[in-house]
Amino acid sequence: MRDSVTRLGIIGNGVAATTAIREVRNKDQSIEIDVFTDERHPYYPRPNLIDLVANRRTIKETIRYDLDWYEKNDVDLFLSTPVFQIDTKRMAVISTSIDYEPYDSIMIAVGCRPFIPPFEGLHRNNVHVIRTLDDALDIREAVKGTGREIIIGGGILGIELAAAMKEIGGDPIVVSNEDRLLPIQLDDQGSKVLTKQIEKKGIQVLFGFECREISGDENATGIVSAQNDVIAGDLVVIATGVRSNTIIAKNSGIQYHHGITVDDHMQTSVRNVFAAGDCMEWNNQWFGIIPWATASSRIAAQNMMEFGSAKFSGITPSNQLQVVGIDLTSIGIVNPGSPEYESIVSVDVDAGQYFKAVLKDDVVVGAICIGSRKVALKLRSLIAKSENVKDQKQSMFDDS
Ligand SMILES: Cc1cc2nc3c(=O)[nH]c(=O)nc-3n(C[C@H](O)[C@H](O)[C@H](O)COP(=O)(O)OP(=O)(O)OC[C@H]3O[C@@H](n4cnc5c(N)ncnc54)[C@H](O)[C@@H]3O)c2cc1C
Repeated sequence: MRDSVTRLGIIGNGVAATTAIREVRNKDQSIEIDVFTDERHPYYPRPNLIDLVANRRTIKETIRYDLDWYEKNDVDLFLSTPVFQIDTKRMAVISTSIDYEPYDSIMIAVGCRPFIPPFEGLHRNNVHVIRTLDDALDIREAVKGTGREIIIGGGILGIELAAAMKEIGGDPIVVSNEDRLLPIQLDDQGSKVLTKQIEKKGIQVLFGFECREISGDENATGIVSAQNDVIAGDLVVIATGVRSNTIIAKNSGIQYHHGITVDDHMQTSVRNVFAAGDCMEWNNQWFGIIPWATASSRIAAQNMMEFGSAKFSGITPSNQLQVVGIDLTSIGIVNPGSPEYESIVSVDVDAGQYFKAVLKDDVVVGAICIGSRKVALKLRSLIAKSENVKDQKQSMFDDS
């Protein structure tokens, strides 16, 4: 039996942290909550950063919870307060100059950082990553409308960013070392359809470019491949994936692998220390998407208040985006590697449409949908219901 909980510490202030705050406050008004973030801004959803780059939002519109929200929810928010370690014996949160203590439970929700391959020339001016609000402001400022922007990485982030740059007068090129876009969410045909649509919008895409160096003197002037091919450009953004922030776990003697490892209650290897969101790994699974962060932080919050009250059972990964007017949805298993799966496909490259349903035992377990929101909704609903679709295979992609 654990003692009653009166004081919680949350490290991080992203969607996992703010979901946990809401979960706690829905049930309890009296528990003290302290929140620590190394950023200077209160909570903003990271997808808003694309709108910020595209000038569709102001900074104020990017931030979802201003300081009043924390006050109303009786939360002490410590901005610009990086945490290095948890003293797990004292249940203390250790920052630059002060230790905050003691907490009954601590949640680590510190997310990810961009993964930066070891290219030469990373120190040059105008080489960027995008993760934070300040990164987005820097990138927007650097798009001049006269030069060319190089985005290294053909994942969702790279494409959305290229589209945002195009909107503010940039001339972006997306460069990938792979032979297709969105390698996790799409297959070959899906990538071909998406690439054609993106190119139609004036964004160039280049595959199979193994970047080795960012060229230039003080400022970046382009990128160079392992085969010495050169692309000129005066702004380089590296969007080559993310890695979980595990340094606090490392410094605190908490187990971690790719992410901070947790059990079904989102508890780490240390009693009363929990982890949720992008920094966490559960059951050998890891995702860097919002549904993973919100689902896991709800479970963590419930167990911080009453241990054993909730169990995590994973999520079906799902991505939905709208890039330069193209609707794209990818859910569950989209690249099955074994014969027990059946794929039903419909493709119309010129119309910019690609539909794929992946079935196992006549039940839809994954889908790709490009170019129709209605079909996407239908496939999403079939996956959620797990119903037998044996008689619906011919009409699977009808949108009526
Ligand atoms: C531009 C962009 C667009 C995206 N679009 C989508 C989308 O459309 N759909 C989707 O599902 N996902 C999207 N993602 C991914 C999604 O934003 C993440 O999965 C989500 O933010 C994870 O939430 P989190 O709370 O775990 O981590 P984060 O949001 O990364 O929050 C971590 C928090 O911890 C703080 N922190 C980190 N280290 C420390 C430390 N040592 N001390 C104190 N504080 C610390 C950070 O400042 C931050 O406040 C996008 C990401 C980016 C960057």
